[in-house]
Amino acid sequence: MIIILISVPIGIIVSIPTSKLYMNINTLYKENLRHIDTIDKHVATMVVNLNKNITDVSTALCKISGYSKEELLGQTPSVFKSGNMDVQVYKELWNKISQRYVWSGELENKTKSGEPYWVDVTILPNLDEKNNLISFTSIMEDITDKKLIEKISQTDKLTQLYNRVKLDDSLDYEINRYIRYKDIFSVILIDIDYFKSVNDTYGHLVGDNVLVELSNQLKIHCRNTDILGRWGGEEFMIICTDTNIKGAIELAEHLRKTVDTFEFEIVKHKTISIGVSEVTNADNIETLIKRVDENLYKAKKEGRNRVISDS
Ligand code: GH3
Ligand code: MG
Ligand code: MG
Repeated sequence: MIIILISVPIGIIVSIPTSKLYMNINTLYKENLRHIDTIDKHVATMVVNLNKNITDVSTALCKISGYSKEELLGQTPSVFKSGNMDVQVYKELWNKISQRYVWSGELENKTKSGEPYWVDVTILPNLDEKNNLISFTSIMEDITDKKLIEKISQTDKLTQLYNRVKLDDSLDYEINRYIRYKDIFSVILIDIDYFKSVNDTYGHLVGDNVLVELSNQLKIHCRNTDILGRWGGEEFMIICTDTNIKGAIELAEHLRKTVDTFEFEIVKHKTISIGVSEVTNADNIETLIKRVDENLYKAKKEGRNRVISDS
């Protein structure tokens, strides 16, 4: 009796902290499950093993991509590729993460139904307790709206070429790259000959259409690495990356001939004058633009429908 009277209260007293601990753990566990559930629903994530097979995806990624979890597990991440990205980006990405570095960048993907969408991605290498690389976790944020706004802010409404803002940014970028790494580039400035007469003879709308037709021709005949934009009015600029004066003159001459032989819908025949310059050690953006503008002016003065370069 005495033993029972003593041991029962002691047993109760001893078990109180243990049951409290158990209750706390239980609460934490439930809270954790709730957090995991929230992350799963709202953060697009994916785990890929070393064989490039998807081993886990979050509900949020399924929602963005239009695939079900079952459709994605076992696939390779290339199922998401839009086909519009430079393949070099993926090469550099794998190169970096397979060396256990974190990779961050923007990728254009496509949904199951083929709709493009943009994600800001961070890929982290996963290591086991012995520091062996076992898989990669991608964390993605949908930035499609941001990319759309960015595109609109860089695009000329009439011609759908890059606008002046984008050209200025690109010139700035290329000049800095040249100063740092001596990566050569050249600039082509194009002006339509006697364009005012198009407006005067046929009206402004026909003039607009000539600008669109010419832009399309320039787009077709420029190279992938050229940055083509509307400099203003009836003037266009091409920033030819990794191109010396010789390469830029060749492209300019090709464009001049193309336009000279192109049949415009209403006005039939139009020509362009072109200035070409290569960046030099002494250049900043202003001096480079001044030189290419002077070359264009010379081309006009010497009779139009011609290419004039620094040399
Ligand atoms: P030049 O051979 O010396 O270049 O002669 P030009 O007539 O082409 O040159 P000028 O600078 O005198 O005229 C350019 C004209 O381009 C004047 C302007 O009305 C017209 N223009 C500029 N922007 C637009 C546009 O967006 N649409 C139309 N339709 N015309 C434009
Ligand atoms: Mg002009
Ligand atoms: Mg003109």
